[in-house]
Amino acid sequence: MHLQLDQARNGPLRWRDAVRVSAPDLSRDEALVPGSVDCEGSLTFTGPDFLLQTRLRYRYRLRCDRCLTPYEEDVDLPLAFVVTAGGTDGPAASDDAGDAHGGRELGPEDLSTLVAVDGAVDLYRLVCEQVELNVPMKPTCDAACQGLCPQCGVDRNREACTCVAESVDPRWAALEAVRQRLTDSLT
Ligand SMILES: [Zn+2]
Ligand SMILES: [Zn+2]
Repeated sequence: MHLQLDQARNGPLRWRDAVRVSAPDLSRDEALVPGSVDCEGSLTFTGPDFLLQTRLRYRYRLRCDRCLTPYEEDVDLPLAFVVTAGGTDGPAASDDAGDAHGGRELGPEDLSTLVAVDGAVDLYRLVCEQVELNVPMKPTCDAACQGLCPQCGVDRNREACTCVAESVDPRWAALEAVRQRLTDSLT
């Protein structure tokens, strides 16, 4: 789906769409959106640019970084962008937010700039990018997730293991041997 900027010149353009984000469009395979992304929003002409406000709602499936268990989570993502027409009748895009026009609740510093291509915004691409950007670096199924035991690999959320927690890190073990020798030589 493409949003034509011209359609917003005489009044805000509103839309609602269900965007399917299939796996190949997301470069990371641990994040999948099994359903579609509910995408609604408005495009408002603020002269010379446009204000794009949208809200993405979807459910994604991640793999916990600690216990490696897949889990699902609901996402509700409000977004806003300054859209420049680009090319012919707009200034070149920049990463800084530009002027304050249009930004009512959000300050201009919160807005990133999108450049329309051929007078339109590719909504599909935008949704894919935002879904991907929103994937956490270290997804966790629960803040209290115990993770896997580094020694026996048991999921510590499900069962306790008998591994002793103190176990000396092999790097410290070498140091410990040196310390032992030193104390031996001193006595
Ligand atoms: Zn976990
Ligand atoms: Zn263990």
